[in-house]
Amino acid sequence: MEPVIVLVGRPNVGKSTLFNCLTRSRDALVADFPELTRDRQYGRGRIGPCAYIVVDTGGMGQGNGAISEGVQAQARQAIAQADAVLFLVDARSGPTAADEALAGELRAQGKQLFLVPNKVDGLDARVVAADFYTLGLGDPHPIAAAHGTGVARLMASVLQGM
Ligand code: GDP
Ligand code: MG
Repeated sequence: MEPVIVLVGRPNVGKSTLFNCLTRSRDALVADFPELTRDRQYGRGRIGPCAYIVVDTGGMGQGNGAISEGVQAQARQAIAQADAVLFLVDARSGPTAADEALAGELRAQGKQLFLVPNKVDGLDARVVAADFYTLGLGDPHPIAAAHGTGVARLMASVLQGM
């Protein structure tokens, strides 16, 4: 079974944009995963020989966002099944109180966790990374999902050893 990579983060940080980016190259053949492919929040992707399943938690639970007051039930369930969790944050806003709350919850889940500041286009990625060290989740992996910048490097780290 492919590793399951779950995208979390507050609304508007770019989860769906990254989801589209990661599933664009997916195999056409999805018949063996009817229960997943019925749901647009689940997608399959592949980088080189590494196939994976990616889950967009946006839209899970109520309202538009996976997360307004902490991780909602369905998102938490997705995280429980994850091999890796990509925690997206907005490089333009810097870490927010909501990000800090989420960081705490995610740390408690004990999953392999990647901190991913998105929207670094036009910003200094090193300054962004320094900003987000305060969340205490280790090395940030800055990307610009809309342009695909940094995504290959991020995924190399995520898929390494899976
Ligand atoms: P979600 O709510 O977390 O799923 O976020 P979306 O994927 O819907 O993106 C929210 C907004 O951020 C949209 O207007 C996107 O076009 C924008 N966005 C996403 N990725 C990037 C990026 O890499 N750079 C910039 N500048 N905007 C982005
Ligand atoms: Mg979304």
